[in-house]
Amino acid sequence: MFETLSDRLTSVFTSLRGKGRLSEEDINATAREIRLALLEADVALPVVREFIARIKERARGEEVSKALNPAQQVIKIVNEELVEILGGETREIRFAKNPPTVIMLAGLQGAGKTTLAGKLARWLAAERNTPLLVAADLQRPNAVTQLQVVGERAKVPVFAPQPGNGVGDPVEVAREAVEHAKRANHNIVIVDTAGRLGVDAEMMQQAADIRDAVRPDEILFVVDAMIGQDAVNTAQAFLDGVGYDAVALTKLDGDARGGAALSIRHITGRPIMFASTGEKLEDFDLFHPDRMASRILDMGDVLTLIEQAQRTFEEDEVNKMASKMASDEDFTLDDFLEQISMVRKLGPIGNLLGMMPGMGQMREQINNVDDRDLDRITAIIRSMTPAERQNPKLINGSRRLRIANGSGTQVGDVSGLVTRFFEAQKMMRQMKNGGMPGMPGMPGM
Ligand code: GDP
Repeated sequence: MFETLSDRLTSVFTSLRGKGRLSEEDINATAREIRLALLEADVALPVVREFIARIKERARGEEVSKALNPAQQVIKIVNEELVEILGGETREIRFAKNPPTVIMLAGLQGAGKTTLAGKLARWLAAERNTPLLVAADLQRPNAVTQLQVVGERAKVPVFAPQPGNGVGDPVEVAREAVEHAKRANHNIVIVDTAGRLGVDAEMMQQAADIRDAVRPDEILFVVDAMIGQDAVNTAQAFLDGVGYDAVALTKLDGDARGGAALSIRHITGRPIMFASTGEKLEDFDLFHPDRMASRILDMGDVLTLIEQAQRTFEEDEVNKMASKMASDEDFTLDDFLEQISMVRKLGPIGNLLGMMPGMGQMREQINNVDDRDLDRITAIIRSMTPAERQNPKLINGSRRLRIANGSGTQVGDVSGLVTRFFEAQKMMRQMKNGGMPGMPGMPGM
């Protein structure tokens, strides 16, 4: 999802590393790069323009933060603007005061409406609702059967036209379904409507007739994110033809660029409510602009982390560690110890690592890291002599045994730590040359 944009933006930020402050040229160059990244991601031009204007304005006006370097500040701004462009707040379903709540789906054929109907029904049922699916797509020969299959998988009943009872009139089917839902105590009715391959007046009219017959509480426009800019055009056509309250984006799993997701809110003024990310019924959730932005920036929740750091650390502490990191002196076990104690002030280590950039793929390992590991590491380092901490190469077999005994650990634990420390030290040397964004380093985790 959004790989192209992620890669481009990450490289923009990389080029800002190590800068003490941002000059006007830096800001312009960065804005240019971000603009290219967005255009390449197929984001609509008016959206790109406004986005860039805001980034520039904020980058120039940003208060100089003591805890954030310029690269981090730009990341923070871009992140906040991405959240904004994606809709800001998460949009929840508005339930009717008097059930049933009627949710109508509209969109082109192949957009993923029927699949989404099943996903939505399952998701709602899991929240103790009693949804009813309605097959008001009588255009496609298989549509009703397809919805019945989906309903079975979602374990949600489907209301379909009975033979000889209004067959062929989707408006009538939808109306009856709502009546049925009232009688049978379904608190939500999800109406799947017919789509066409392209925007078409008859389809719009039919959707509008269904809308007028059942007066939905929510009309969702369902659109395939993989069609990029076309999604935006179709969105506009449905807005004019039927109108809708929110958007459901499907096939985000196949959308490497992200243009539709980033444009639709701005162009239509309607929020994205749901994201569909696969063919399985479970691949579905509310659309969270903040989480999506973090994903695009591949930063886990690094901003939360940055904010926590800002709140938690005294400026001096950060500066001391930062200047130590920037100096030619080698990173020692004493620094390691100091960092561990800084990190621990931020909270449980698992939470912390989960917020680190690029850690998305490492969930499982993260869940295995636990605070007792840090206690053990701390105990081991404290059992070393100052000379050993400065120069761990001194730590031979007999010293390892002494340290293990002193810290109540095994020789293997001591060896493991020393090995990890050497790796960390190596990484630190590399970072001093190239640099990594963000936090005081957290080596060897
Ligand atoms: P409809 O014509 O709008 O009802 O669309 P369908 O629900 O029949 O979906 C069209 C195709 O897209 C089907 O093959 C679905 O399995 C597939 N599809 C739907 N949603 C997703 C999704 O989120 N990800 C992926 N990869 N495929 C999807």
